[in-house]
Amino acid sequence: VKHAKAAGRTEVYHPQAFTIARAQFAMETALRRAIEQEELHLAYQPICDLSTGRTIAFEALARWRDAEGRDHSPADFIPVAEESGLIVPLGRWAANQALLQLADWDRRAGGDCGVRMSVNVSAIQLQRDDIPALIESALARAGVAGERLILELTESAIVGDPDRVSAIMNALKKLGPTIAMDDFGTGYSSLAYLQKLPIDILKIDRSFVSGMLADRDKIAIVRAILGLAQALGMKTTAEGIEAVELGQTLAALGCSHGQGYYYARPLDPDAAWAMIADQA
Ligand code: C2E
Ligand code: MG
Ligand code: MG
Ligand code: MG
Repeated sequence: VKHAKAAGRTEVYHPQAFTIARAQFAMETALRRAIEQEELHLAYQPICDLSTGRTIAFEALARWRDAEGRDHSPADFIPVAEESGLIVPLGRWAANQALLQLADWDRRAGGDCGVRMSVNVSAIQLQRDDIPALIESALARAGVAGERLILELTESAIVGDPDRVSAIMNALKKLGPTIAMDDFGTGYSSLAYLQKLPIDILKIDRSFVSGMLADRDKIAIVRAILGLAQALGMKTTAEGIEAVELGQTLAALGCSHGQGYYYARPLDPDAAWAMIADQA
């Protein structure tokens, strides 16, 4: 680390930070091209009813295979998309694509295919885009009823001007979707919003679920979230169920829905359709 003093200002040059910034910029440039050239696609992970085992929805998850055939993880490129603002076109594409996919499954099923579609919406989209207009047009374009859609927001989406957030969420809710709070328990916001905003589902973050059978603290947190949801009349979806005992325990504790590698990994559209057709 080199320090340079100029005009009373201390600047810190950190070669490693520079390398990281350059790598981020390279990824941003590549991601912009990927959105334009349609190198992105969606994978679909089942969300199941823990009491019946039926798949009730699929979560649409962004995937990026670049021109050189390398796969990038959303854990890496979604933060870059959020920092650069590219999440706005990416999010628009994802909502449209996911609903067109649901319409395609409906067509193959000759009617309502029996599952819903869950779409992630970033906090940045809520700040910078007209989300109700986007969702309304995506539903209309696909010809899908709003009740078939689940929107996953994170706690970071609901910080900021409470009147504005509440107006946006109420406008969204009028379109018919179910609203889920994603990664619940990992954010920094107060719990007061839970009674003011139209939230239907709490998604319990994977960090509390995985390993909970061997960790009394994790079980205590999961129980507390389930109790909170029940008291507020909300449903719950547990993320990261990797073993059968986890699903059974969560069901016994009153968790309504679950998602995880035990049931299925995120799937390509044909594999997802096979699951839908199988349970029809
Ligand atoms: P998320 O919304 O919490 O999605 C769940 C993540 O957990 C997915 O990771 C999924 O593949 C992974 N997962 C599901 N079950 C298991 C399990 O049993 N074990 C483990 N270890 N992992 C499991 P993925 O696909 O890598 O996505 C990571 C995050 O990227 C998502 O977390 C979401 O926050 C974000 N993301 C993905 N697609 C989009 C998108 O279209 N828009 C926005 N705004 N964010 C997205
Ligand atoms: Mg999600
Ligand atoms: Mg989640
Ligand atoms: Mg998560």
